[in-house]
Amino acid sequence: MSILKPEQYDDLRRSGQINAQILAALRDAVRPGIKTRELDTLACEMQREMGAESSFLGYTFDLNKQPAYPATINVSVNEELVHGIPGKRVLKRGDVVTLDCGTRYKGIITDAALTVVVGESGSPRVQQLIQATEEALEVAIALLKPGRRVGDIAFAIQAVLQKYRLGIPPNFGGHGVGLRPHDDPHIPNIGKPGEGDAFQVGQVVAIEPMAMLGRPETRLLRDHWTVVTTDRSICAHTEHTMLIHADGAEVVTRFPNGE
Ligand code: MG
Ligand code: MG
Repeated sequence: MSILKPEQYDDLRRSGQINAQILAALRDAVRPGIKTRELDTLACEMQREMGAESSFLGYTFDLNKQPAYPATINVSVNEELVHGIPGKRVLKRGDVVTLDCGTRYKGIITDAALTVVVGESGSPRVQQLIQATEEALEVAIALLKPGRRVGDIAFAIQAVLQKYRLGIPPNFGGHGVGLRPHDDPHIPNIGKPGEGDAFQVGQVVAIEPMAMLGRPETRLLRDHWTVVTTDRSICAHTEHTMLIHADGAEVVTRFPNGE
């Protein structure tokens, strides 16, 4: 679990602001014809300019089976749920793209993601998919405070996503962050009220509702990273990093305009 000391809070906030500025720039840069690697290069250059680095680059969940992550950000397109590796892929109008960025600044890590449609607003159902993950995240943020349990948050996210009849992948979700890229606890997007650990003052967590238009089953591509929906249905994913105070959660990865 990542519990920060109050003297570390400002470095967390700076890490979150850097991450937010990068995601805002990436969102603006997304257009038909851009290669996903160009987005990765932009994020890498911005982090370096601001005295930070990627918390994703070189990361692995499993030292035995999984190669170190080879890029600065995740760019997950259409049926890719999470951990898409930027590369030669050229984005097309109508692609549904999740940009996920992790920033380490003075050793303090923040993590945030958003989903956009390339060059257009998307079909009504795709718009609803994206807005559902955003709504679920805001509901979770409003609930987050000391004493609230992981299952309370998971249940609230699940309720929003189910209201829109979306698939919810059972094996992916939020996590502790701050001192490590993926810290305890795992914060699923499906759960029961009252279950799991209680949140504490000073704890840093990333909450990340994700959903798909089709079935919740996923599989891992041969690159050992990219997770795709088995039925190739479209996915969306929204994430912020929060610092927990006595009276509720401070979102440290908000855009300057409050998004
Ligand atoms: Mg993330
Ligand atoms: Mg995360």
